[in-house]
Amino acid sequence: MLSCPRLDDRVDLLATTRATLLDAAHVRLGGAAARHAPAVHRRAHRNGTFAPELDGAGPADADRWRAAFRLDLPTVTARLDAPGPAGGSTAKAVLRLGDGRSIETVRVPIGDRRESQCVSTQVGCGMACRFCETARMGLVRSLTAGEIVGQVVAARATLGWRPASIVFQGMGEPLDDADALIAALRALTDPNGLAFARDRLTVCTVGHVDGLRRLATLGWSRLGLSLSLTAADDGARRELVPIARRWPLAEVQRALIELRGRRNWQLGIHWCLLPGVNDRREDARKVAMFCAPLGRVMVHVIPYNPGSVPLTRPPTDTEVARFVGWLRDEGLPVRRRITKGRELMAACGQLATDSRRGR
Ligand code: SF4
Repeated sequence: MLSCPRLDDRVDLLATTRATLLDAAHVRLGGAAARHAPAVHRRAHRNGTFAPELDGAGPADADRWRAAFRLDLPTVTARLDAPGPAGGSTAKAVLRLGDGRSIETVRVPIGDRRESQCVSTQVGCGMACRFCETARMGLVRSLTAGEIVGQVVAARATLGWRPASIVFQGMGEPLDDADALIAALRALTDPNGLAFARDRLTVCTVGHVDGLRRLATLGWSRLGLSLSLTAADDGARRELVPIARRWPLAEVQRALIELRGRRNWQLGIHWCLLPGVNDRREDARKVAMFCAPLGRVMVHVIPYNPGSVPLTRPPTDTEVARFVGWLRDEGLPVRRRITKGRELMAACGQLATDSRRGR
């Protein structure tokens, strides 16, 4: 995995909680200037600005704050909207990072006038899933914790987004850099910052077993988790989801069971429905066999959204309904995802930016 270029040794405000910022401010600035830390933290996370003089620091202390801390809010360079069937609109924003790379974040209506924000964790992705447009970029680099949080803060400050929940299902495999993800989770759930409840955050992995084990060490019983399954036997999965060559399904299953031991929640299972590839009766049976030892699950059937080089065509409504019916026959609870944002290339599996050209 490639790491983020080290910009400088100033502490990134968006990667902090109020407590860690207070500690860092004491060490770097001493007690007198550190008293401004709660206000600096609040302004950074809620408004996306860094202005210590507005938080009570005199000119000399403000200069010291700027020498020791930084706020690199991603810049919104484009926004696209697509009205949804239920009145809510799906929106995609392109954000430019400090090193000039671009990422995408998407806002999706989830009913009751609420919205969810889909956040990226990497520029590109190295997992090479065959049904995914992001995979075509390869991995450019992982995002820092501040850049992950920065997507939420920038969309809030610049576009007025107020998502009720966050899903880590944009560009990248969130558990490929579990340290950055966990730091971002801590920052986003800090009651003094954006204060998301843990069950309002969902990590979506393609089956990164090391990352799942690392996540388990957090011991957060209410954190949302989804597995992008898409093939329920190792042979087919190795073809569609190459990470399966490293971690076969039995290992993924074991890691999920270990996590479940610490949890009292429902695991999401994502099934990207690919006509002619994974839409047979037998596939539904294998999904049920995989899920059997996992406790409470909810299977989300996601119609395939073709990217620039389609693996197959999108399924018809009849094909989706038939597969959903087979899963239900197997006794699985199922939600059928309504495709949102396909025309913006903002739907699941369609995110990619011109950063691929920057490699
Ligand atoms: S589906 Fe997710 S893990 Fe797989 S290539 Fe796309 S972004 Fe990466």
